[in-house]
Amino acid sequence: MLKHVVFLDRDGVINADSPDYVISWEEFFFIPKSRQAIADLCAAGCTLFVVTNQSAVHRKMITVSELERLHRKMIAAIEDRGGKIQDVFYCPHLPEEGCLCRKPKPGLLLEAQRRYGIDLSTAFMVGDSEKDMVCGRAAGCRYAVLVRTGNGRQAEKRLKEKGQPPDHIAPDLFSAARFQA
Ligand SMILES: [Mg+2]
Ligand SMILES: [Zn+2]
Repeated sequence: MLKHVVFLDRDGVINADSPDYVISWEEFFFIPKSRQAIADLCAAGCTLFVVTNQSAVHRKMITVSELERLHRKMIAAIEDRGGKIQDVFYCPHLPEEGCLCRKPKPGLLLEAQRRYGIDLSTAFMVGDSEKDMVCGRAAGCRYAVLVRTGNGRQAEKRLKEKGQPPDHIAPDLFSAARFQA
């Protein structure tokens, strides 16, 4: 992933996912070596963005300011290990709201593209769900990379059944960071 823009899903890629939503710093647990992976990607010249569905906001489980505070803590903890997150884009909507930013729609990536002038045709999307892979493709990313952490194993199975395998599959973000495209 040398020198490329890399979009990272959050839950199940950077931190452990939870069926009850991750809505506080006390519930936010980094997946082993995910911060090292982010630091390594930065050292290799990548620019990293986090793109995440956070319907917990419109479910009124967490406020926008609480979510943004959580993200500032995440970023600070990543910076402690030498990594950098350029920006975090999140979708606060419920699936039934039919917004344009909830993955698998490509809205979050297109927003990042507009704001930062990104060439999506060379970008990577790394996620643990089918939604992430579809989103990456819909946005025109070069590579859709699936990690087996979080929901990755189920997603791998479903994508295989559908005949839509990801471009690359890695055990976790740390391994994904070593993918030589
Ligand atoms: Mg996820
Ligand atoms: Zn949305």
